[in-house]
Amino acid sequence: MKSCGACAAVCPPNAITVVDEGEYRVIRLFYGRCIFCGRCADVCPKEAITLTNEFELSTENLGDLTQELRLKMVKCKECPIFFDTKRHYEEVQKLLKEAGIVIDKEFMNKCPMHRLVLTSRLIGLKR
Ligand code: SF4
Repeated sequence: MKSCGACAAVCPPNAITVVDEGEYRVIRLFYGRCIFCGRCADVCPKEAITLTNEFELSTENLGDLTQELRLKMVKCKECPIFFDTKRHYEEVQKLLKEAGIVIDKEFMNKCPMHRLVLTSRLIGLKR
């Protein structure tokens, strides 16, 4: 998972949740709610989700039905906000490089709010 959250956004019973907890983005899947509709797999841009034929969910421990992924996040250089997962951040940089697009590192290391402030300054706008 790259953590865009598309799967969580389309999951009808909210079996998938994506929440930021400190320096981690936590993606949780609770099989106890899953209705096996497959929408999460349909919308995943990275094809990170694959449905299988396994449907037996019997257990005496609800914890067995939860899967969790913790992704380290990148912190803004200007403020204490964690604004993207490290994996996604690095992939975006790789894609930009492959496309021959050069973006200043100072810009990339800021959260969206501070990128806006920097852009406003560069084009001469005042807040
Ligand atoms: S298959 Fe399960 S986890 Fe995926 S969208 Fe449907 S209910 Fe949610």
